[in-house]
Amino acid sequence: KDKSIGPVTKEDLGRATWTFLHTLAAQMAILSRMYPCRECADHFKEILSIQKNQQGNKKRMLKNWYNSSCPSLYMAILSRMYPCRECADHFKEILRSNPPRAGSQEEFSQWLCHVHNTVNRSLGKLVFPCERVDARWGKLECEQKSCDLHGTSMDF
Ligand code: FAD
Repeated sequence: KDKSIGPVTKEDLGRATWTFLHTLAAQMAILSRMYPCRECADHFKEILSIQKNQQGNKKRMLKNWYNSSCPSLYMAILSRMYPCRECADHFKEILRSNPPRAGSQEEFSQWLCHVHNTVNRSLGKLVFPCERVDARWGKLECEQKSCDLHGTSMDF
């Protein structure tokens, strides 16, 4: 039977969402580009425009930005708009006890892995080894690297 014409299950939705989130976390520049908060996005843009000769300053400001409430805001919005009630309620609860940590791309990927494992445990699934996150989600596979964003410009 062709499953692609039937309704979406919470498992389909979950798999698609985790795939999206982990890929996003592996490519943090894109995550910051789509922030739903104008102020966060504008500040990020400003930091990116800092000249090359001020690398130290830029690094420090980026770290502060990632540590600010901006990444948490994105996750909070997702937990409110997630279209499976039981999962959204579960996610809100998990976020309360595991506030997003996003001091860097690596930290955010690891935090997401930890949170996904919390969901895995509660569903009786195997825990994923978080040191394998980059191997699994680090780059997008496609011909001639036409969809891989690594190394491309971070300009808006
Ligand atoms: P998934 O858990 O969907 O994982 C997809 C792929 O991600 C795996 O094949 C694996 O390669 C990789 N992966 C697995 N764990 C990790 C990890 N820790 N880090 C990185 N990569 C990993 N379902 C419910 O029934 N009840 C709920 O309350 C519920 N809450 C959810 C909350 C959220 C925010 C989301 C996104 C989904 C939720 N789901 C819930 C769905 C559930 O988590 C699964 O997506 C679904 O059961 C399908 O599971 P799966 O075994 O195919 O793999």
